Amino acid sequence: MKLELQGITKKFGDFTANDAIDLVVSPGKVHALLGENGAGKSTLMNVLFGLYDADGGQILLDGEPTVFSDPGDAMDAGIGMVHQHFMLVPVFTVAESLMLGHEDVKGPAKLLNLDAARDKVKELSERFGFHIDPDAIIEDLSVGAQQRVEIIKALSRDAKVLILDEPTAVLTPQETDELLEIVGQLRDSGTAVVLITHKLREVKAIADDITVIRRGKVVGTASPSDSQEELASLMVGRSVSMAVDKEPAEPGDAALTVDGLSVVDEETDITLLDNVSFELRAGEVLAVAGVQGNGQTELAEAILGLTKTDAGSVTLDGERLTGRSIRSVLDAGVGFVPEDRTEDGVVADFTIINNLILDLYDRAPYSKRGSLQPSVLRENADTQVENFDVRTTSIDALTGSLSGGNQQKVVLARELSRDLKLLIASQPTRGLDVGSIEFVHKRIIEERDKGVAVLVVSSELDEVYALADRIAVMYHGKIVDIVSPDTDRDTLGLMMAGAHSKEEVA
Ligand code: ADP
Ligand code: MG
Repeated sequence: MKLELQGITKKFGDFTANDAIDLVVSPGKVHALLGENGAGKSTLMNVLFGLYDADGGQILLDGEPTVFSDPGDAMDAGIGMVHQHFMLVPVFTVAESLMLGHEDVKGPAKLLNLDAARDKVKELSERFGFHIDPDAIIEDLSVGAQQRVEIIKALSRDAKVLILDEPTAVLTPQETDELLEIVGQLRDSGTAVVLITHKLREVKAIADDITVIRRGKVVGTASPSDSQEELASLMVGRSVSMAVDKEPAEPGDAALTVDGLSVVDEETDITLLDNVSFELRAGEVLAVAGVQGNGQTELAEAILGLTKTDAGSVTLDGERLTGRSIRSVLDAGVGFVPEDRTEDGVVADFTIINNLILDLYDRAPYSKRGSLQPSVLRENADTQVENFDVRTTSIDALTGSLSGGNQQKVVLARELSRDLKLLIASQPTRGLDVGSIEFVHKRIIEERDKGVAVLVVSSELDEVYALADRIAVMYHGKIVDIVSPDTDRDTLGLMMAGAHSKEEVA
C-alpha cells in the first residue's frame, strides 16, 4: 500500500509542530524520517495514526484521500505503529497481548481466541525470525523482545504500513542489528516501513529513502549513501563534526578511588551494585558502558552519596567521601550532571538565572551578608548563557520552557562553573540534538584537559567511543571489565550482554 502525506500541518496553539509536510512511503521500501529531538516527527506520525486531527493537508492511501478519526481507523486501514514507549500489559502472555488489540477489529483480521492468537504469533515469528514464544509473559521478555511483540501485534492486524518511532533508543547494539534485520525482511515482504530516528548510522544501514525535517518543516531529502556529516548538517542546519576533537589523555595520579562499593535495594533485597572497584585518574575520561539498568545509575549516585551504600568506600584525592552529605561531596569538588535533568538537574519553574546558582546561592559573590546580589546573578547568567550557547529569549525565562538540549546546557554551565576535581556525567546527551551533543562533548573533553577526572555513564556506544580514554562495561551491577577504546563494537556489545571479559568474547 502506498501512503502519501500532502501538506500536513499540525499546530499546538500558536506553535506549528508540522508545517505543510509532504512524505511518500511505498510498499517494499524503508523511508527514514530523520530529525532532531523536537523536530516534529512523532507529531506527524500521530496525525497519520489518527491520534491528532491535522489542521491542514491530507493523507492518501493508494491515491485515495482518507481521514482517520482514531487509531482504530488507521489500523483498520492497514497502518501499524510501534510507539516510542511500548504499550503492552506486563502480566499478559504474548498471545493474550495480541488478542487485546483485536476486539475492535472490523475486518477479517479478527483474532478472538487464544489458539488463533498463538498460531498467529508462531506463524509471524517463524516467517520473520522474531523468536517469540506465544506463551511467554510480557514482563519476562527483554526490551528487544517486547518490541518484537509490538511489531507482531501490528502485523497480526495486517499492517501494510508500519511506523517505528525511535525503535532503537532502548536496544543494545546487537538488538539494534536484529531489529534492522527484521525491518529489512518486512520491507522485502512488501511492507512499507517508516523508520523514525535521529541515529545516522541506522539510517545509512537500512533506509531506501530519507526525508529530513527540522523545526516542523521538510528541509530536504537525502540518500543513504550520503555521509553522516552530510545527513547531520541537513538535520541541524549547519555543519557539524561527528568526531570529538581530542588529544590523547595525559592522566595524572589517581583522583577517585572506588573500593568494593555495593548497593542493595532495601525493599527487594536485590543487589544493584555488586562489589565495584576501580580507579579514575585526574585528566582522563572513564566511560561506563552498559544497557540501561545494569547498575550504572546506582554507581553514579552512590559515589555522590545520593544512594545509600551497603559496603565499600569512595575517596577523592585521599579524602573519604563515603558517608558525607551530598552538599559536602559537591563542595569537595564534585560536579554532577544527572541522568534525569527534569527530575534532578533543574527546577523547571525557576528562571535560568536561579537555576545557574542552585547550590551556590548562599555564598559570595552571589550572596553578601545574607542577601542575594541581583546584579551579580544577572551578570553570571548573561555570561553563562553566552558561553554555553543556551538558546533562550531571556535569562528571566523559566528553565522548563527551554528545549531539552538547552536545559542540559544550563545544568552543565552550573556544574562546570565550580572548581572541579571530579565530574560525573550521567547520560549527558540523552535526548539532545546533534548540535548540542557536539557542544556538550567538547566541554567534557575541555574539563578532562584541565585535569578533572571525568566519569561518563552512557548507554550510547557512539558517545562512549567519542569520549572514553578507558571503558568500563557494567552488567548486572558488576564491572565486567575495563577495556581500551580500541575494543570493537561487537565485543563491547557482547560484554554489555554479559560475556565476562574481552578474552571470553574472543
Ligand atoms: P520529535 O518526535 O521529532 O522529537 P515531537 O513531534 O514530539 O518531536 O514534538 C515537536 C514539537 O511539538 C516539540 O517542540 C514539542 O514540544 C511540541 N509538542 C509535541 N506534542 C505537543 C503537545 N501535545 N502540545 C504542545 N506541544 C507539543
Ligand atoms: Mg518523537
